[in-house]
This record gives sequence, C-alpha cells and structure tokens, in this order.
Amino acid sequence: MSEQRSNESRVAQLPILTVRNLSVRYRSLLALDSINLSIQPGQLIGVFGPNGAGKSTLIKAMLGLVPLESGSVCYQNQPLTQQLDRVAYIPQRSQIDWTFPATAWDVVMMGRVRKSGYFNRFSATSRRLAMEALERVGIADLRNRRIGQLSGGQQQRVFLARALAQEADLFFLDEPFVGVDQKTEDVLFSCFRELVGQGKTVMVVNHDLGESITQFDRLLLLNRQLIAEGTHQHVLTPETMAKAYGGHVSFFTGRVA
Ligand code: ADP
Ligand code: MG
Repeated sequence: MSEQRSNESRVAQLPILTVRNLSVRYRSLLALDSINLSIQPGQLIGVFGPNGAGKSTLIKAMLGLVPLESGSVCYQNQPLTQQLDRVAYIPQRSQIDWTFPATAWDVVMMGRVRKSGYFNRFSATSRRLAMEALERVGIADLRNRRIGQLSGGQQQRVFLARALAQEADLFFLDEPFVGVDQKTEDVLFSCFRELVGQGKTVMVVNHDLGESITQFDRLLLLNRQLIAEGTHQHVLTPETMAKAYGGHVSFFTGRVA
C-alpha cells in the first residue's frame, strides 16, 4: 500500500513535456541557446523576458513552426510535432490578420476542424462545444460579428474560445494580455486555472512584469538562454533580473517584436 502510494507520487511528478538542448538560429543570430525544460502536467507557466529574448521563438520552436538548430521537444515521450492535435496555440496579436472576413463563430469553429475532418460537416458535438466555449468566455452574443469589428479584449476571448473548443491538452498563448481590458484578463486567468485544474498544461508568454506574475505556478525567465525557472520568489531576484534585463527592469505593456 505505502509502496503503491509512493509509486503514485513518483508518477505524478514525472514531467509531461520535455525540452532538451533546444537551439534556434535565424541566420547569424542565435535566438535560443540550449534550452532545457521539464514541465509537469497541471501547471500554469509564465514565460518572461525582454523584447527579443526569444519567447515567441521558444513557442514556435516547440511547435515545429521554425527550424531547430538542435534539440528535441517531447510530450509524453513522443515528439510534440507528431501530436499537434493535442495543442492549442494563440499567436501574438501582430501575427493575426484582423481583416480576414470571418465571424467570431467561424474562428471558434476553426478549432474543431482537426476533430471533424477537413471535408466533413461540423457535428452537433462540435457546434455545442463551440457555443459552450463562447459562453464560457462571455461573448456568445457577439458570435455573428466579424472579428475585425471586435475590441482587442473581445478578439482575444474569441481566440481563447477557439482554444477551449479544440479540447487540447497543451495550451500555448503568446502575449494574450496585450491590448485587453481587465474583464478579459480575469476571464483568461479563470480559464487557465480551470484548465490546469483538469490536469492540462498552459504556457503563457508575457513580457509585462506586473502584479499578475504571482498568478503563475511557475515562471521561466528567458533571454536567449533560460536564466531562471521556478516560483516567482525564486525567479524574481535582483541577480536573475539583472541577467535577463541587463540591469534595468521594464514594467511596461506594449507591442513586441
Ligand atoms: P520575443 O518574443 O521574446 O520578443 P522573438 O522570439 O520574437 O522574441 O525574437 C527573438 C530574436 O529573433 C529577436 O532578435 C528577433 O528580432 C529575431 N527574430 C525573430 N523572428 C525572426 C525571423 N523570422 N527571422 C530573423 N530573425 C528573427
Ligand atoms: Mg514575442
């Protein structure tokens, strides 16, 4: 019995996502230098670091969206790029074409394409999940609006609803708090808590070192290399911050590269 319990606690501590020796080079620029990470399931992880630190590149590299110079990314001991149906990814706002003529509903239904198949009609289940996701983030009444007509916060909630409708296990969000209102920030954090409570993994890139930093279970402080990782008490020391931010810490929110 006690042996079984100790086995269970060992299993619970096994990492679900493992990044080994990950490096990315854009021509002469080494954007990521030998990143090693082990991530447990059921955690909300914040990726921090200054502009150009390689935060977006880390997510893209993990998802196979940029070529790796070296390294591997495994989810449950298999390459993550072979399991992208388990991943929901919300790119940085600047990478989304907001003039694309889609309604909020269309965007959320895109999250169901992999499950429904490209040439099949959406099932009743897909439509129900899309509606539930829109209700969860509080914008079901806006579902027939073009995304370009929505506010920044509403747009971010549309993309969160798409991620929820996808029924993914791993969620990657790149700067989701940029240009959003307080209500949207609250909705985002409450959805993240719900997802990690279900044992899912949520990784959020955020360059704003504001109060919300304490909401994360674990922080990764990045500047080309992984400078520090752990709880905010552990990561946010004058030494690590000086290393990441070059001796001056910025408390701003805005567009990044
Ligand atoms: P962050 O998201 O932390 O601001 P990025 O991952 O966007 O940082 O960028 C890291 C570095 O790589 C920056 O110096 C950026 O200019 C550069 N970079 C990003 N994408 C490309 C690209 N496609 N080609 C060349 N350089 C790039
Ligand atoms: Mg970025």
